[in-house]
Amino acid sequence: MTNLFDLSGRVAIVTGANTGLGQAIAVALAGAGASIVAVGRSSMDETEAAVVKAGPRFHAIRADLNTLDPIASIVSETVGVFGGLDILVNNAGIIRRADAIDFTEADWDEVMDVNLKSAFFFAQASARHMLRNGGGKIINIASMLSFQGGIRIASYTASKSGLAGLTRLLACEWAAHGINVNAIAPGYFVTNNTTALREDPERNANILGRIPAGRWGEPSDLGGAAIFLSSKASDYVHGTILPVDGGWLAR
Ligand code: NAP
Repeated sequence: MTNLFDLSGRVAIVTGANTGLGQAIAVALAGAGASIVAVGRSSMDETEAAVVKAGPRFHAIRADLNTLDPIASIVSETVGVFGGLDILVNNAGIIRRADAIDFTEADWDEVMDVNLKSAFFFAQASARHMLRNGGGKIINIASMLSFQGGIRIASYTASKSGLAGLTRLLACEWAAHGINVNAIAPGYFVTNNTTALREDPERNANILGRIPAGRWGEPSDLGGAAIFLSSKASDYVHGTILPVDGGWLAR
């Protein structure tokens, strides 16, 4: 029987792959057979070591995604190195915490630029290649804040709610052309992004108390959803925001 989840011969870009969820997604896709292009502004040595244990081919590209400047050349370098681009995981993201009443323009712009603007134009640049080459898979990393308001993270909530809308819009435009655009909405995971929450005993207890699974997510918990949305198994799945949240939204 054909393995619906096999990614052999596929080429995947994962942004923000040096750590956290991006690193775990890169390792999972490599384990399913994909060649990995890891994009980010920090060293990819740790990710490279983990990926080559799991899968065949790895290439790192150093880039800061707070501007659009590097995006077109990342796509062409990927195609030059591995001969194509089949999967884009828009994972790079930042968060700024302050009460809405004090929130600064800088904290607004920085988050929107990386989490939303770059993600859209990375999807556009990738789709231009995919549309000429039989399609592909685009996965945006959304959030519980794509569904909920949260507190003290105005630009983050705006960016992740916007990303959910964009996921649906791009799915509507590109589904008929062989591109699946979907998102994964992680719940509360142990990464740098959530250090402040986990170090605050009250917030930590409140969050844990609401997760039916009774624990924070580990980055490897995202691997299955990432492989599913990257693979043939999801060929008729378009514009969905898939929560991987230990049951948080069901509560
Ligand atoms: P993380 O450990 O802070 O990782 C964020 C990644 O994005 C890092 O690789 C970071 O690179 C990269 N990045 C940030 N700004 C960048 C820029 N300007 N250019 C290039 N790369 C940049 O946090 P994470 O939890 O793994 O976050 C990954 C994604 O999941 C984010 O989109 C986040 O919003 C989302 N998410 C996380 C959770 C959670 O509970 N952890 C929940 C929902 C959604 P550096 O290491 O160099 O900064």
